[in-house]
Amino acid sequence: MHDHRKLGRELDLFDTDPLMGAGLPYWLPDGAVVRHTLEEYVREAERRAGYRHVYSPVLGKRELYEISGHWSHYSEDMFPPMRLGGEQVVLRPSLCPHHALIYRSRAHSYRELPLRMAELGGMYRAELSGVLGGLTRVRAIQLNDAHIFCTPDQAVDEARAALELIRQAYRALGIEDARYRLSLPGAGGKYVADPALWQRATALLAEVLDGSGVPYEAVEGEAAFYGPKIDVQVADSAGRESTLSTVQIDFHQPARFDLHYIGPDGAKHRPVMVHRSVIGSVERAVAHLIERHGGALPAWLAPTQIAVLPVSEAELPQAADLVRRCVERGLRAELAGPEQGSLGARIRSARLVPYQVVIGAKEAAADLLAPRLRSGQRLDALPANRFLTRVEALVGAHSTDLWDA
Ligand SMILES: [Zn+2]
Repeated sequence: MHDHRKLGRELDLFDTDPLMGAGLPYWLPDGAVVRHTLEEYVREAERRAGYRHVYSPVLGKRELYEISGHWSHYSEDMFPPMRLGGEQVVLRPSLCPHHALIYRSRAHSYRELPLRMAELGGMYRAELSGVLGGLTRVRAIQLNDAHIFCTPDQAVDEARAALELIRQAYRALGIEDARYRLSLPGAGGKYVADPALWQRATALLAEVLDGSGVPYEAVEGEAAFYGPKIDVQVADSAGRESTLSTVQIDFHQPARFDLHYIGPDGAKHRPVMVHRSVIGSVERAVAHLIERHGGALPAWLAPTQIAVLPVSEAELPQAADLVRRCVERGLRAELAGPEQGSLGARIRSARLVPYQVVIGAKEAAADLLAPRLRSGQRLDALPANRFLTRVEALVGAHSTDLWDA
Protein backbone atom coordinates (compact mmCIF):
# COMPACT_ATOMS: atom_id res chain seq x y z
CA MET A 1 0.00 0.00 0.00
CA HIS A 2 1.36 3.38 -0.97
CA ASP A 3 0.87 6.65 0.83
CA HIS A 4 1.42 9.64 -1.46
CA ARG A 5 2.53 11.80 1.49
CA LYS A 6 5.38 9.44 2.34
CA LEU A 7 6.35 8.80 -1.30
CA GLY A 8 6.04 12.48 -2.18
CA ARG A 9 8.58 13.35 0.50
CA GLU A 10 10.90 10.43 -0.35
CA LEU A 11 10.87 11.33 -4.03
CA ASP A 12 11.30 15.07 -3.35
CA LEU A 13 8.06 15.97 -5.13
CA PHE A 14 6.39 18.25 -2.58
CA ASP A 15 6.42 19.21 1.06
CA THR A 16 4.86 21.60 3.53
CA ASP A 17 6.19 24.12 6.01
CA PRO A 18 4.32 25.18 9.15
CA LEU A 19 5.19 28.79 8.35
CA MET A 20 3.43 28.59 4.99
CA GLY A 21 0.59 26.91 6.77
CA ALA A 22 -1.31 23.65 6.91
CA GLY A 23 -2.94 22.54 3.69
CA LEU A 24 -0.63 24.72 1.61
CA PRO A 25 1.92 22.34 0.08
CA TYR A 26 4.71 23.60 -2.17
CA TRP A 27 6.15 21.75 -5.14
CA LEU A 28 9.86 20.86 -5.30
CA PRO A 29 11.60 20.84 -8.71
CA ASP A 30 10.82 17.19 -9.51
CA GLY A 31 7.20 17.63 -8.41
CA ALA A 32 6.97 20.83 -10.45
CA VAL A 33 8.08 18.85 -13.53
CA VAL A 34 5.28 16.34 -12.95
CA ARG A 35 2.72 19.07 -12.40
CA HIS A 36 3.82 21.13 -15.38
CA THR A 37 3.84 18.06 -17.67
CA LEU A 38 0.39 17.02 -16.47
CA GLU A 39 -1.00 20.53 -16.95
CA GLU A 40 0.42 20.77 -20.45
CA TYR A 41 -1.03 17.37 -21.33
CA VAL A 42 -4.48 18.51 -20.21
CA ARG A 43 -4.21 21.83 -22.04
CA GLU A 44 -3.18 20.09 -25.25
CA ALA A 45 -5.98 17.51 -24.97
CA GLU A 46 -8.44 20.37 -24.41
CA ARG A 47 -7.08 22.36 -27.36
CA ARG A 48 -7.58 19.33 -29.60
CA ALA A 49 -11.14 18.96 -28.28
CA GLY A 50 -12.03 22.52 -29.26
CA TYR A 51 -11.56 24.36 -25.95
CA ARG A 52 -10.09 27.86 -25.71
CA HIS A 53 -8.16 28.78 -22.56
CA VAL A 54 -8.58 31.88 -20.42
CA TYR A 55 -6.97 33.23 -17.26
CA SER A 56 -9.04 34.81 -14.53
CA PRO A 57 -8.10 36.17 -11.08
CA VAL A 58 -8.31 34.06 -7.92
CA LEU A 59 -10.18 36.85 -6.13
CA GLY A 60 -13.60 38.31 -6.67
CA LYS A 61 -15.95 40.70 -4.93
CA ARG A 62 -18.37 39.28 -2.42
CA GLU A 63 -21.28 40.33 -4.65
CA LEU A 64 -20.06 37.96 -7.35
CA TYR A 65 -20.59 34.98 -5.05
CA GLU A 66 -23.86 36.35 -3.82
CA ILE A 67 -25.09 36.26 -7.43
CA SER A 68 -23.68 32.79 -8.12
CA GLY A 69 -25.28 31.45 -4.95
CA HIS A 70 -21.99 30.40 -3.32
CA TRP A 71 -22.45 32.95 -0.57
CA SER A 72 -25.75 31.53 0.63
CA HIS A 73 -25.10 27.83 -0.10
CA TYR A 74 -21.38 27.32 0.23
CA SER A 75 -19.98 29.99 2.54
CA GLU A 76 -18.84 27.58 5.25
CA ASP A 77 -16.28 26.22 2.78
CA MET A 78 -15.08 29.70 1.82
CA PHE A 79 -12.35 31.84 3.36
CA PRO A 80 -13.69 34.87 5.19
CA PRO A 81 -13.81 37.99 3.02
CA MET A 82 -11.01 40.55 3.11
CA ARG A 83 -11.88 44.19 3.56
CA LEU A 84 -10.34 46.48 0.97
CA GLY A 85 -11.46 50.08 1.12
CA GLY A 86 -15.23 49.95 1.19
CA GLU A 87 -15.33 46.54 -0.51
CA GLN A 88 -15.10 42.93 0.48
CA VAL A 89 -13.10 40.57 -1.68
CA VAL A 90 -13.09 36.80 -1.43
CA LEU A 91 -10.65 34.06 -2.42
CA ARG A 92 -12.73 32.25 -4.97
CA PRO A 93 -14.33 28.90 -4.11
CA SER A 94 -14.80 28.01 -7.79
CA LEU A 95 -14.08 29.31 -11.28
CA CYS A 96 -17.65 29.21 -12.62
CA PRO A 97 -18.66 32.80 -11.71
CA HIS A 98 -15.57 34.26 -13.40
CA HIS A 99 -16.23 32.27 -16.56
CA ALA A 100 -19.89 33.32 -16.57
CA LEU A 101 -18.75 36.97 -16.45
CA ILE A 102 -16.23 36.40 -19.26
CA TYR A 103 -19.01 34.86 -21.37
CA ARG A 104 -21.31 37.77 -20.54
CA SER A 105 -18.71 40.38 -21.49
CA ARG A 106 -19.31 39.81 -25.22
CA ALA A 107 -22.43 39.26 -27.32
CA HIS A 108 -22.81 35.72 -28.63
CA SER A 109 -24.64 34.26 -31.58
CA TYR A 110 -25.95 30.68 -31.68
CA ARG A 111 -23.33 30.13 -34.39
CA GLU A 112 -20.53 30.43 -31.78
CA LEU A 113 -21.99 27.70 -29.61
CA PRO A 114 -20.89 25.43 -28.13
CA LEU A 115 -18.33 27.82 -26.67
CA ARG A 116 -15.83 25.82 -24.63
CA MET A 117 -13.90 27.91 -22.08
CA ALA A 118 -11.13 26.22 -20.09
CA GLU A 119 -8.72 27.28 -17.35
CA LEU A 120 -6.27 25.62 -15.01
CA GLY A 121 -6.81 28.04 -12.21
CA GLY A 122 -6.45 28.55 -8.50
CA MET A 123 -9.33 28.25 -6.05
CA TYR A 124 -9.51 28.06 -2.27
CA ARG A 125 -11.33 26.01 0.31
CA ALA A 126 -11.38 26.73 4.03
CA GLU A 127 -10.75 23.10 5.07
CA LEU A 128 -10.49 22.62 8.81
CA SER A 129 -6.91 22.10 9.97
CA GLY A 130 -7.76 18.68 11.44
CA VAL A 131 -8.43 17.11 8.04
CA LEU A 132 -5.47 18.56 6.14
CA GLY A 133 -2.72 16.38 4.79
CA GLY A 134 -0.57 15.77 1.73
CA LEU A 135 -2.15 16.76 -1.56
CA THR A 136 -5.65 15.37 -1.03
CA ARG A 137 -7.00 17.86 1.52
CA VAL A 138 -5.59 21.27 0.73
CA ARG A 139 -6.68 24.85 1.10
CA ALA A 140 -5.18 26.12 -2.16
CA ILE A 141 -6.32 24.12 -5.18
CA GLN A 142 -5.27 24.22 -8.82
CA LEU A 143 -8.39 23.16 -10.67
CA ASN A 144 -8.60 21.76 -14.19
CA ASP A 145 -11.90 23.35 -15.05
CA ALA A 146 -13.96 24.21 -18.09
CA HIS A 147 -17.39 25.55 -18.87
CA ILE A 148 -19.18 24.84 -22.09
CA PHE A 149 -21.82 27.41 -22.96
CA CYS A 150 -24.26 25.74 -25.34
CA THR A 151 -27.88 25.44 -26.40
CA PRO A 152 -30.05 23.01 -24.41
CA ASP A 153 -30.00 20.68 -27.45
CA GLN A 154 -26.20 20.52 -27.41
CA ALA A 155 -25.77 19.78 -23.70
CA VAL A 156 -25.97 15.97 -23.88
CA ASP A 157 -23.43 15.69 -26.70
CA GLU A 158 -21.08 18.07 -24.92
CA ALA A 159 -21.33 16.18 -21.65
CA ARG A 160 -20.76 12.91 -23.50
CA ALA A 161 -17.68 14.32 -25.25
CA ALA A 162 -16.39 15.47 -21.85
CA LEU A 163 -16.72 11.92 -20.52
CA GLU A 164 -14.76 10.65 -23.52
CA LEU A 165 -12.03 13.22 -22.82
CA ILE A 166 -11.87 11.93 -19.24
CA ARG A 167 -11.50 8.33 -20.45
CA GLN A 168 -8.76 9.35 -22.88
CA ALA A 169 -6.83 11.07 -20.07
CA TYR A 170 -7.20 8.05 -17.78
CA ARG A 171 -5.69 5.82 -20.48
CA ALA A 172 -2.66 8.11 -20.80
CA LEU A 173 -2.27 8.37 -17.03
CA GLY A 174 -2.66 4.64 -16.46
CA ILE A 175 -5.53 5.10 -14.01
CA GLU A 176 -8.86 3.33 -13.88
CA ASP A 177 -12.29 4.60 -13.04
CA ALA A 178 -13.77 2.61 -10.18
CA ARG A 179 -17.35 3.75 -10.58
CA TYR A 180 -19.62 6.34 -12.18
CA ARG A 181 -21.93 8.13 -9.84
CA LEU A 182 -24.94 10.24 -10.66
CA SER A 183 -24.86 12.64 -7.73
CA LEU A 184 -28.24 13.96 -6.72
CA PRO A 185 -29.32 16.39 -4.00
CA GLY A 186 -30.17 15.15 -0.52
CA ALA A 187 -32.18 16.54 2.33
CA GLY A 188 -31.40 19.97 3.78
CA GLY A 189 -31.08 23.52 2.55
CA LYS A 190 -27.68 23.09 0.92
CA TYR A 191 -29.23 23.06 -2.56
CA VAL A 192 -30.95 25.72 -4.62
CA ALA A 193 -34.69 25.18 -4.54
CA ASP A 194 -35.99 24.74 -8.06
CA PRO A 195 -37.49 21.29 -8.67
CA ALA A 196 -37.89 21.81 -12.44
CA LEU A 197 -34.20 22.66 -12.76
CA TRP A 198 -33.12 19.52 -10.90
CA GLN A 199 -35.41 17.27 -12.90
CA ARG A 200 -34.31 18.64 -16.23
CA ALA A 201 -30.58 18.46 -15.47
CA THR A 202 -30.89 14.99 -13.91
CA ALA A 203 -32.75 13.66 -16.96
CA LEU A 204 -30.03 14.95 -19.29
CA LEU A 205 -27.19 13.49 -17.21
CA ALA A 206 -28.98 10.13 -17.03
CA GLU A 207 -29.28 10.25 -20.81
CA VAL A 208 -25.52 10.85 -21.08
CA LEU A 209 -24.74 7.92 -18.79
CA ASP A 210 -27.28 5.57 -20.39
CA GLY A 211 -25.97 6.45 -23.84
CA SER A 212 -22.34 5.86 -22.91
CA GLY A 213 -23.11 2.35 -21.65
CA VAL A 214 -21.18 2.62 -18.37
CA PRO A 215 -22.77 1.16 -15.25
CA TYR A 216 -23.56 3.86 -12.73
CA GLU A 217 -25.27 4.40 -9.45
CA ALA A 218 -27.46 7.31 -8.38
CA VAL A 219 -26.45 8.64 -4.95
CA GLU A 220 -28.36 11.26 -3.00
CA GLY A 221 -26.62 14.05 -1.12
CA GLU A 222 -23.57 14.38 -3.41
CA ALA A 223 -24.77 17.01 -5.91
CA ALA A 224 -23.32 20.50 -6.26
CA PHE A 225 -25.53 23.12 -4.65
CA TYR A 226 -26.67 24.35 -8.08
CA GLY A 227 -27.22 21.05 -9.88
CA PRO A 228 -26.67 17.29 -10.20
CA LYS A 229 -23.40 15.91 -11.53
CA ILE A 230 -21.69 12.86 -12.89
CA ASP A 231 -18.77 11.96 -10.64
CA VAL A 232 -16.05 9.69 -11.92
CA GLN A 233 -14.81 7.85 -8.85
CA VAL A 234 -11.35 6.38 -8.44
CA ALA A 235 -10.15 4.07 -5.68
CA ASP A 236 -6.87 4.25 -3.77
CA SER A 237 -4.81 1.18 -2.92
CA ALA A 238 -6.89 0.62 0.21
CA GLY A 239 -10.07 0.68 -1.88
CA ARG A 240 -11.20 4.08 -0.59
CA GLU A 241 -13.11 5.98 -3.25
CA SER A 242 -12.82 9.62 -4.11
CA THR A 243 -14.06 11.84 -6.92
CA LEU A 244 -11.47 12.79 -9.50
CA SER A 245 -13.45 14.01 -12.50
CA THR A 246 -16.90 15.54 -12.87
CA VAL A 247 -19.41 16.54 -15.53
CA GLN A 248 -22.38 18.76 -14.69
CA ILE A 249 -25.27 20.29 -16.59
CA ASP A 250 -26.29 23.59 -15.05
CA PHE A 251 -29.38 25.71 -15.66
CA HIS A 252 -28.95 27.71 -12.46
CA GLN A 253 -25.92 29.91 -13.02
CA PRO A 254 -26.86 30.96 -16.61
CA ALA A 255 -30.10 32.29 -15.12
CA ARG A 256 -28.39 33.92 -12.13
CA PHE A 257 -25.94 35.73 -14.41
CA ASP A 258 -28.61 36.43 -17.02
CA LEU A 259 -26.54 34.88 -19.81
CA HIS A 260 -27.90 34.76 -23.31
CA TYR A 261 -27.14 34.21 -26.95
CA ILE A 262 -28.93 35.44 -30.05
CA GLY A 263 -30.75 32.56 -31.72
CA PRO A 264 -31.56 32.03 -35.41
CA ASP A 265 -34.84 33.86 -34.74
CA GLY A 266 -32.96 37.01 -33.73
CA ALA A 267 -34.24 36.74 -30.15
CA LYS A 268 -32.33 36.23 -26.88
CA HIS A 269 -32.08 32.68 -25.53
CA ARG A 270 -30.60 31.25 -22.36
CA PRO A 271 -27.54 28.99 -22.79
CA VAL A 272 -26.82 25.96 -20.62
CA MET A 273 -23.50 25.66 -18.78
CA VAL A 274 -21.80 22.27 -18.84
CA HIS A 275 -19.17 22.25 -16.10
CA ARG A 276 -16.52 19.59 -16.46
CA SER A 277 -13.16 18.67 -15.02
CA VAL A 278 -10.99 16.05 -16.72
CA ILE A 279 -8.47 15.39 -13.94
CA GLY A 280 -10.10 17.36 -11.13
CA SER A 281 -7.55 19.28 -9.12
CA VAL A 282 -3.89 18.93 -10.00
CA GLU A 283 -3.15 18.16 -6.34
CA ARG A 284 -5.62 15.30 -6.06
CA ALA A 285 -4.65 13.93 -9.47
CA VAL A 286 -0.95 13.82 -8.60
CA ALA A 287 -1.69 12.24 -5.20
CA HIS A 288 -3.71 9.54 -6.91
CA LEU A 289 -1.07 8.97 -9.59
CA ILE A 290 1.69 8.57 -6.99
CA GLU A 291 -0.34 6.04 -5.01
CA ARG A 292 -1.70 4.21 -8.02
CA HIS A 293 1.78 3.73 -9.54
CA GLY A 294 3.76 3.51 -6.32
CA GLY A 295 5.81 6.47 -7.56
CA ALA A 296 6.61 4.72 -10.87
CA LEU A 297 4.83 7.28 -13.06
CA PRO A 298 4.27 6.72 -16.79
CA ALA A 299 7.48 7.62 -18.67
CA TRP A 300 6.02 10.78 -20.20
CA LEU A 301 5.21 12.07 -16.70
CA ALA A 302 8.29 10.86 -14.79
CA PRO A 303 10.53 13.64 -13.41
CA THR A 304 13.59 11.76 -14.69
CA GLN A 305 12.96 9.56 -17.70
CA ILE A 306 16.45 8.22 -18.34
CA ALA A 307 19.15 7.55 -15.74
CA VAL A 308 22.59 7.48 -17.34
CA LEU A 309 25.02 5.35 -15.33
CA PRO A 310 28.67 5.26 -16.42
CA VAL A 311 30.47 2.21 -15.02
CA SER A 312 33.61 4.22 -14.21
CA GLU A 313 35.18 7.66 -14.54
CA ALA A 314 36.46 6.66 -17.97
CA GLU A 315 32.94 6.68 -19.47
CA LEU A 316 31.93 10.03 -17.96
CA PRO A 317 32.40 12.03 -21.20
CA GLN A 318 30.19 9.64 -23.20
CA ALA A 319 27.60 9.64 -20.40
CA ALA A 320 27.52 13.46 -20.28
CA ASP A 321 27.20 13.52 -24.06
CA LEU A 322 24.23 11.13 -23.90
CA VAL A 323 22.49 13.35 -21.33
CA ARG A 324 23.02 16.32 -23.63
CA ARG A 325 21.47 14.42 -26.56
CA CYS A 326 18.47 13.49 -24.41
CA VAL A 327 17.92 17.10 -23.38
CA GLU A 328 18.12 18.23 -27.02
CA ARG A 329 15.28 15.83 -27.82
CA GLY A 330 13.18 17.14 -24.93
CA LEU A 331 13.81 14.05 -22.78
CA ARG A 332 14.62 14.36 -19.08
CA ALA A 333 17.88 12.56 -18.29
CA GLU A 334 20.10 12.53 -15.20
CA LEU A 335 23.72 11.53 -14.95
CA ALA A 336 24.53 9.36 -11.92
CA GLY A 337 28.33 8.97 -11.91
CA PRO A 338 30.60 6.73 -9.84
CA GLU A 339 30.93 9.45 -7.16
CA GLN A 340 27.34 8.55 -6.20
CA GLY A 341 28.33 5.03 -5.19
CA SER A 342 28.67 1.56 -6.66
CA LEU A 343 26.88 0.70 -9.89
CA GLY A 344 24.49 -1.57 -7.97
CA ALA A 345 23.62 1.20 -5.54
CA ARG A 346 23.05 3.69 -8.36
CA ILE A 347 20.77 1.25 -10.20
CA ARG A 348 18.79 0.72 -6.99
CA SER A 349 18.35 4.42 -6.36
CA ALA A 350 17.14 4.85 -9.96
CA ARG A 351 14.62 2.02 -9.57
CA LEU A 352 11.62 4.27 -10.32
CA VAL A 353 13.26 5.83 -13.39
CA PRO A 354 11.67 4.28 -16.51
CA TYR A 355 14.95 3.75 -18.39
CA GLN A 356 18.35 2.99 -16.89
CA VAL A 357 21.30 3.08 -19.21
CA VAL A 358 24.62 1.63 -18.08
CA ILE A 359 27.59 2.76 -20.11
CA GLY A 360 30.70 0.58 -19.92
CA ALA A 361 33.83 0.62 -22.05
CA LYS A 362 32.19 -1.45 -24.81
CA GLU A 363 29.12 0.76 -25.08
CA ALA A 364 31.19 3.94 -24.95
CA ALA A 365 33.42 2.80 -27.79
CA ALA A 366 30.56 1.81 -30.13
CA ASP A 367 27.86 4.37 -29.14
CA LEU A 368 25.66 1.42 -28.22
CA LEU A 369 23.31 1.18 -25.27
CA ALA A 370 22.04 -1.83 -23.35
CA PRO A 371 19.12 -0.21 -21.50
CA ARG A 372 17.23 -1.82 -18.68
CA LEU A 373 13.62 -0.95 -18.10
CA ARG A 374 12.12 -0.10 -14.73
CA SER A 375 10.17 -3.35 -14.98
CA GLY A 376 13.45 -5.28 -14.79
CA GLN A 377 13.46 -6.18 -18.47
CA ARG A 378 16.84 -5.82 -20.23
CA LEU A 379 16.94 -4.80 -23.87
CA ASP A 380 19.51 -6.04 -26.38
CA ALA A 381 22.23 -3.52 -27.12
CA LEU A 382 21.15 -1.01 -29.75
CA PRO A 383 22.53 2.21 -31.23
CA ALA A 384 21.98 5.15 -28.87
CA ASN A 385 20.06 7.21 -31.43
CA ARG A 386 17.65 4.40 -32.18
CA PHE A 387 16.93 3.97 -28.46
CA LEU A 388 16.33 7.69 -27.99
CA THR A 389 14.03 7.88 -31.01
CA ARG A 390 11.90 5.03 -29.66
CA VAL A 391 11.68 6.61 -26.20
CA GLU A 392 10.85 9.98 -27.70
CA ALA A 393 7.98 8.42 -29.69
CA LEU A 394 6.55 6.61 -26.65
CA VAL A 395 6.77 9.74 -24.53
CA GLY A 396 5.28 11.90 -27.29
CA ALA A 397 2.34 9.48 -27.60
CA HIS A 398 1.71 9.60 -23.80
CA SER A 399 2.05 5.83 -23.78
CA THR A 400 1.98 3.88 -20.55
CA ASP A 401 4.17 1.20 -22.19
CA LEU A 402 7.88 1.47 -21.54
CA TRP A 403 8.81 -0.38 -24.72
CA ASP A 404 6.96 -1.81 -27.68
CA ALA A 405 8.73 -4.86 -29.03
ZN1 LIG B 1 -18.04 25.30 -12.79
